[in-house]
Amino acid sequence: MNLTNLYELQLIDTQLNSITVEIASIEKKLKQNQQVLSATKCLEESQKVEESEQRTLRQIIEEIDQKKIKLSQSDAMLYSGKVQNPKELQDLQLEIQSLKKIIAKLEDKQLDQMIRLEEAQSQVEQANSTLNSISSQFETSKSQLAARRNVLTSDEAMLKKKREVVLQSISPDLLKHYETLQSRKNGLVIVLLENDACAACGTQLTPSERQEVRLTNVLFHCPTCGRILHIK
Ligand SMILES: [Zn+2]
Repeated sequence: MNLTNLYELQLIDTQLNSITVEIASIEKKLKQNQQVLSATKCLEESQKVEESEQRTLRQIIEEIDQKKIKLSQSDAMLYSGKVQNPKELQDLQLEIQSLKKIIAKLEDKQLDQMIRLEEAQSQVEQANSTLNSISSQFETSKSQLAARRNVLTSDEAMLKKKREVVLQSISPDLLKHYETLQSRKNGLVIVLLENDACAACGTQLTPSERQEVRLTNVLFHCPTCGRILHIK
Protein backbone atom coordinates (compact mmCIF):
# COMPACT_ATOMS: atom_id res chain seq x y z
CA MET A 1 0.00 0.00 0.00
CA ASN A 2 1.50 3.30 -1.03
CA LEU A 3 1.12 5.70 1.81
CA THR A 4 3.06 8.57 0.25
CA ASN A 5 -0.11 10.40 -0.72
CA LEU A 6 -1.80 9.79 2.61
CA TYR A 7 1.29 11.09 4.38
CA GLU A 8 1.22 14.11 2.05
CA LEU A 9 -2.44 14.64 3.01
CA GLN A 10 -1.45 14.50 6.67
CA LEU A 11 1.23 17.16 6.18
CA ILE A 12 -1.28 19.42 4.41
CA ASP A 13 -3.95 18.91 7.09
CA THR A 14 -1.43 19.59 9.87
CA GLN A 15 -0.44 22.87 8.20
CA LEU A 16 -4.08 23.79 7.56
CA ASN A 17 -4.86 23.13 11.18
CA SER A 18 -2.05 25.32 12.47
CA ILE A 19 -3.12 28.08 10.04
CA THR A 20 -6.69 27.90 11.38
CA VAL A 21 -5.41 28.15 14.95
CA GLU A 22 -3.15 31.12 14.13
CA ILE A 23 -5.88 32.99 12.20
CA ALA A 24 -8.25 32.53 15.14
CA SER A 25 -5.63 33.89 17.53
CA ILE A 26 -5.03 36.90 15.23
CA GLU A 27 -8.77 37.60 14.99
CA LYS A 28 -8.94 37.54 18.76
CA LYS A 29 -5.97 39.91 19.13
CA LEU A 30 -7.43 42.30 16.54
CA LYS A 31 -10.53 42.66 18.68
CA GLN A 32 -8.60 42.95 21.92
CA ASN A 33 -8.07 46.65 22.38
CA GLN A 34 -8.37 46.28 26.14
CA GLN A 35 -5.38 48.54 26.80
CA VAL A 36 -6.77 51.27 24.55
CA LEU A 37 -10.12 51.02 26.32
CA SER A 38 -8.60 51.26 29.77
CA ALA A 39 -6.36 54.21 28.75
CA THR A 40 -9.45 55.95 27.34
CA LYS A 41 -11.31 55.34 30.57
CA CYS A 42 -8.35 56.69 32.54
CA LEU A 43 -8.36 59.86 30.41
CA GLU A 44 -12.12 60.33 30.84
CA GLU A 45 -11.82 59.94 34.59
CA SER A 46 -9.00 62.48 34.84
CA GLN A 47 -11.05 64.88 32.69
CA LYS A 48 -13.96 64.52 35.09
CA VAL A 49 -11.67 65.33 38.03
CA GLU A 50 -10.34 68.37 36.14
CA GLU A 51 -13.87 69.62 35.41
CA SER A 52 -14.86 69.21 39.02
CA GLU A 53 -11.76 71.12 40.25
CA GLN A 54 -12.53 73.82 37.68
CA ARG A 55 -16.12 74.07 38.94
CA THR A 56 -14.96 74.33 42.55
CA LEU A 57 -12.54 77.12 41.59
CA ARG A 58 -15.30 79.04 39.78
CA GLN A 59 -17.53 78.72 42.85
CA ILE A 60 -14.79 80.11 45.11
CA ILE A 61 -14.19 83.03 42.72
CA GLU A 62 -17.92 83.76 42.57
CA GLU A 63 -18.12 83.68 46.33
CA ILE A 64 -15.18 86.11 46.60
CA ASP A 65 -16.85 88.45 44.09
CA GLN A 66 -20.10 88.39 46.06
CA LYS A 67 -18.33 89.10 49.35
CA LYS A 68 -16.39 91.96 47.69
CA ILE A 69 -19.59 93.50 46.39
CA LYS A 70 -21.07 93.20 49.86
CA LEU A 71 -17.89 94.72 51.35
CA SER A 72 -17.94 97.70 49.01
CA GLN A 73 -21.63 98.25 49.75
CA SER A 74 -20.96 98.20 53.48
CA ASP A 75 -17.95 100.49 53.05
CA ALA A 76 -20.04 102.91 51.01
CA MET A 77 -22.75 102.79 53.66
CA LEU A 78 -20.21 103.45 56.43
CA TYR A 79 -18.81 106.56 54.73
CA SER A 80 -22.12 107.78 53.35
CA GLY A 81 -23.07 109.47 56.59
CA LYS A 82 -26.52 107.91 56.37
CA VAL A 83 -25.88 105.72 59.39
CA GLN A 84 -25.77 107.81 62.53
CA ASN A 85 -26.78 105.39 65.24
CA PRO A 86 -23.57 104.26 67.09
CA LYS A 87 -24.85 100.70 67.52
CA GLU A 88 -25.61 100.47 63.80
CA LEU A 89 -22.23 101.97 62.96
CA GLN A 90 -20.50 99.45 65.15
CA ASP A 91 -22.43 96.58 63.59
CA LEU A 92 -21.45 97.88 60.19
CA GLN A 93 -17.76 98.01 61.17
CA LEU A 94 -17.95 94.50 62.59
CA GLU A 95 -19.56 93.29 59.42
CA ILE A 96 -16.81 94.89 57.33
CA GLN A 97 -14.11 93.26 59.47
CA SER A 98 -15.78 89.89 59.22
CA LEU A 99 -16.19 90.24 55.43
CA LYS A 100 -12.49 91.07 55.08
CA LYS A 101 -11.57 87.94 57.06
CA ILE A 102 -13.89 85.78 54.99
CA ILE A 103 -12.46 87.21 51.78
CA ALA A 104 -8.88 86.54 52.95
CA LYS A 105 -9.79 82.95 53.80
CA LEU A 106 -11.53 82.49 50.46
CA GLU A 107 -8.49 83.86 48.64
CA ASP A 108 -6.29 81.28 50.40
CA LYS A 109 -8.78 78.65 49.38
CA GLN A 110 -8.63 79.96 45.82
CA LEU A 111 -4.84 79.56 45.72
CA ASP A 112 -5.07 75.99 47.04
CA GLN A 113 -7.76 75.24 44.51
CA MET A 114 -5.64 76.62 41.67
CA ILE A 115 -2.86 74.22 42.67
CA ARG A 116 -5.32 71.33 42.73
CA LEU A 117 -6.56 72.31 39.31
CA GLU A 118 -3.02 72.43 37.92
CA GLU A 119 -2.41 68.93 39.28
CA ALA A 120 -5.62 67.69 37.70
CA GLN A 121 -4.66 69.31 34.40
CA SER A 122 -1.28 67.62 34.42
CA GLN A 123 -3.01 64.28 35.10
CA VAL A 124 -5.16 64.86 32.02
CA GLU A 125 -2.10 65.64 29.91
CA GLN A 126 -0.38 62.49 31.14
CA ALA A 127 -3.45 60.32 30.51
CA ASN A 128 -3.76 61.85 27.06
CA SER A 129 -0.19 61.08 26.09
CA THR A 130 -0.48 57.53 27.47
CA LEU A 131 -3.60 56.98 25.38
CA ASN A 132 -1.87 58.33 22.27
CA SER A 133 1.10 56.04 22.63
CA ILE A 134 -1.02 52.97 23.42
CA SER A 135 -3.30 53.70 20.48
CA SER A 136 -0.42 54.04 18.08
CA GLN A 137 1.14 50.80 19.39
CA PHE A 138 -2.19 49.06 18.88
CA GLU A 139 -2.49 50.43 15.34
CA THR A 140 1.01 49.21 14.51
CA SER A 141 0.39 45.72 15.86
CA LYS A 142 -2.98 45.69 14.12
CA SER A 143 -1.43 46.31 10.74
CA GLN A 144 1.25 43.69 11.42
CA LEU A 145 -1.41 41.17 12.43
CA ALA A 146 -3.52 41.98 9.39
CA ALA A 147 -0.50 41.48 7.11
CA ARG A 148 0.24 38.12 8.75
CA ARG A 149 -3.41 37.12 8.35
CA ASN A 150 -3.24 37.89 4.63
CA VAL A 151 -0.20 35.63 4.24
CA LEU A 152 -1.96 32.85 6.17
CA THR A 153 -5.15 33.19 4.15
CA SER A 154 -3.30 32.84 0.85
CA ASP A 155 -1.28 29.87 2.21
CA GLU A 156 -4.54 28.30 3.28
CA ALA A 157 -6.07 28.69 -0.19
CA MET A 158 -2.98 27.20 -1.79
CA LEU A 159 -2.96 24.23 0.62
CA LYS A 160 -6.65 23.56 0.01
CA LYS A 161 -6.03 23.35 -3.73
CA LYS A 162 -3.10 21.00 -3.12
CA ARG A 163 -5.33 18.92 -0.85
CA GLU A 164 -7.93 18.48 -3.59
CA VAL A 165 -5.24 17.13 -5.91
CA VAL A 166 -3.80 14.74 -3.31
CA LEU A 167 -7.28 13.45 -2.39
CA GLN A 168 -7.75 12.18 -5.95
CA SER A 169 -4.94 9.68 -5.52
CA ILE A 170 -6.15 8.22 -2.22
CA SER A 171 -8.58 5.30 -2.23
CA PRO A 172 -12.00 6.00 -0.65
CA ASP A 173 -11.50 3.24 1.95
CA LEU A 174 -8.13 4.55 3.06
CA LEU A 175 -9.52 8.08 3.20
CA LYS A 176 -12.42 6.92 5.34
CA HIS A 177 -10.00 5.20 7.70
CA TYR A 178 -7.91 8.38 7.86
CA GLU A 179 -10.93 10.54 8.61
CA THR A 180 -12.11 8.17 11.35
CA LEU A 181 -8.71 8.23 13.03
CA GLN A 182 -8.44 12.01 12.58
CA SER A 183 -11.02 12.81 15.22
CA ARG A 184 -9.67 10.19 17.62
CA LYS A 185 -5.99 11.00 17.21
CA ASN A 186 -6.24 14.75 17.55
CA GLY A 187 -5.69 15.27 13.82
CA LEU A 188 -2.43 13.33 13.67
CA VAL A 189 -3.16 10.03 11.90
CA ILE A 190 -0.04 9.01 10.02
CA VAL A 191 3.50 9.53 11.24
CA LEU A 192 6.97 8.51 10.15
CA LEU A 193 9.04 5.76 11.65
CA GLU A 194 12.07 7.62 12.95
CA ASN A 195 15.08 5.70 14.28
CA ASP A 196 12.85 2.60 14.46
CA ALA A 197 10.37 4.43 16.70
CA CYS A 198 6.93 5.99 16.25
CA ALA A 199 7.45 9.73 15.66
CA ALA A 200 4.27 10.54 17.59
CA CYS A 201 4.67 8.56 20.81
CA GLY A 202 8.29 7.32 20.65
CA THR A 203 7.51 3.63 20.96
CA GLN A 204 10.41 1.50 19.68
CA LEU A 205 9.36 -1.19 17.23
CA THR A 206 10.70 -4.73 17.25
CA PRO A 207 12.52 -5.95 14.14
CA SER A 208 9.47 -7.94 13.07
CA GLU A 209 7.17 -4.94 13.54
CA ARG A 210 9.56 -2.82 11.49
CA GLN A 211 9.36 -5.44 8.82
CA GLU A 212 5.58 -5.13 8.87
CA VAL A 213 5.80 -1.37 8.44
CA ARG A 214 7.84 -1.97 5.30
CA LEU A 215 5.22 -4.28 3.84
CA THR A 216 3.28 -2.43 1.25
CA ASN A 217 0.11 -4.50 1.31
CA VAL A 218 -0.98 -3.84 4.91
CA LEU A 219 -1.41 -0.83 7.13
CA PHE A 220 0.68 -0.97 10.26
CA HIS A 221 -0.59 0.85 13.33
CA CYS A 222 1.69 1.83 16.20
CA PRO A 223 1.05 -0.70 19.01
CA THR A 224 0.98 2.12 21.57
CA CYS A 225 -0.76 5.15 20.05
CA GLY A 226 -2.57 3.42 17.20
CA ARG A 227 -1.38 5.79 14.50
CA ILE A 228 -0.45 4.60 11.02
CA LEU A 229 3.31 4.28 10.66
CA HIS A 230 5.00 5.19 7.43
CA ILE A 231 8.51 4.93 6.04
CA LYS A 232 9.48 7.46 3.43
ZN1 LIG B 1 2.89 5.64 18.40
